[in-house]
Amino acid sequence: MTHVALGIPKSCIETRIIIIGTGFAGLGMAIRLKEMGIDDFIIIERASDVGGTWRDNRYPGAACDVPSHLYSFSFEPNNEWSRVYPTQPELEAYLQNVTDKWDLRPHIRFAHTLTGAHYQQNSGHWLVNTSGGDFRARFVISGNGGLAEPKLPDIPGVENFSGHHFHSATWDHNYSLAGKRVAVIGTGASAIQFVPKIADAPAKLSVYQRTPNWIIPRKDRAYHRLEKWLFKRLPITRKLLRGKIYCQNEIRVLGMVLHPALMKIFRMIASRHIRRQVTDPSLRTTVTPTFPIGCKRILISNDWYPALQKPNVEVLSSGIKEITATSIIGKDGSERAVDCIIFGTGFYATDNPIAAMIHGRDGRVLADVWANGEEAYLGSSVHGFPNFFFIVGPNVTLGHSSMVYMIETQIAAISRVLTAANALAADAVEVRAEVQQAYNKELQNRLGGSVWATGCDSWYKHRSGKITQLWPGFTFSFRRRNRDFKQADYTFSKARVEATI
Ligand code: NAP
Repeated sequence: MTHVALGIPKSCIETRIIIIGTGFAGLGMAIRLKEMGIDDFIIIERASDVGGTWRDNRYPGAACDVPSHLYSFSFEPNNEWSRVYPTQPELEAYLQNVTDKWDLRPHIRFAHTLTGAHYQQNSGHWLVNTSGGDFRARFVISGNGGLAEPKLPDIPGVENFSGHHFHSATWDHNYSLAGKRVAVIGTGASAIQFVPKIADAPAKLSVYQRTPNWIIPRKDRAYHRLEKWLFKRLPITRKLLRGKIYCQNEIRVLGMVLHPALMKIFRMIASRHIRRQVTDPSLRTTVTPTFPIGCKRILISNDWYPALQKPNVEVLSSGIKEITATSIIGKDGSERAVDCIIFGTGFYATDNPIAAMIHGRDGRVLADVWANGEEAYLGSSVHGFPNFFFIVGPNVTLGHSSMVYMIETQIAAISRVLTAANALAADAVEVRAEVQQAYNKELQNRLGGSVWATGCDSWYKHRSGKITQLWPGFTFSFRRRNRDFKQADYTFSKARVEATI
């Protein structure tokens, strides 16, 4: 059968594997393919350089809250991390170095935004449409990121605001905040990093808090050059440090999943942090959360509370009634005329934006399949979508440790499935429906007893209330589960038509 008969565009480029995205996930997958001796792959990237979230989030103070020696590829250690917690520029540079070291750029098609992906049932291929052209591939592996699409709040009148405005993930570095009346909406992980950095510039900074977060001290410091020398000369010291950070983080699972009562320890630390840093009793009440600690992500900061107490900064917590062309009106009737609004309002985390573009077997659309909340098997494979894999898909995110560890686990797992498909000379591999169902039933049972189910709203939850983002356990148990690859969990099949192009 010809490509025309199969509905494949003539200009379609053929490759064995398409990877979506050049963050930790996409780059890590590409490296693994190279290690497996597979060179026939293309990475599509909507931006003009690599880096994913660490390329996009360039707001003042952007940094990771997982220590650098754990938040990096195990096979690409960096003796030169400057601090305990890596900053955005350092992480972006790290990912660029990794890209160049592994010579991945020839595989990357920049400025190629995904516009559609259609499974060709007869041949077992995916037709992938992008803004830069079309591709046909046997496999698609998406590393499109869980926190990649900025979300603007659905506040009445937000579209009428005529002043300057931008989201934390699309920071406008050309706009000077000096002397302006600025409002920040949102007090999540991003806002608590950028507010302290910008607080001195505006004439007035109004911080709109809907829900306060639990915040513990940030134990950050620069690495001494002797430490870096030691990491280089005696790599075991760097490995021991990584191991120590890993274990310290894993301990949190005991409280988050197994015995939520243990989270009291974190509550004591966070409450003491408020008492030490906030002097005004009324502000103390305003910034003290009422939900159990850990239910939403625990944040770390030493300069958030001090920033809120600067003379030009105010915290408004009654909720926002409306945004007008020039002002923000609170539910308590307060009105603030503002020149600029900065949205620190997070991302579309529970509705993967590419799901509406993925058309699987029998024409099913992934967004429809996921209408009541995303689910997959091991966070990678979805029944009805053969030869398609996610990295950082449903229930893979962590509330306690490094996503890079989870990403490496998933990359290894996907490689095992690809290897099995190759060994069986299969054209299509698809997770069995009953395997996916049983896995998700078990996950939801475990999540039901976790701290994340104790009654707060968070981006870990789909609007249906189902926790679709988090892995409920130790990261090593996720790895063990993935290592234990069972061929019987999948169906491997031959194509009905051998399509040529
Ligand atoms: P986020 O944690 O989802 O916070 C969004 C903030 O906006 C929350 O305070 C939320 O209030 C508020 N908000 C949303 N819609 C609103 C509305 N309609 N009206 C008023 N307030 C509204 O987003 P983020 O701060 O960008 O962080 C997202 C995630 O990115 C983090 O949890 C983390 O995983 C990751 N991140 C990590 C780092 C790091 O490693 N240090 C840094 C930045 C981001 P509610 O709480 O009431 O919903």
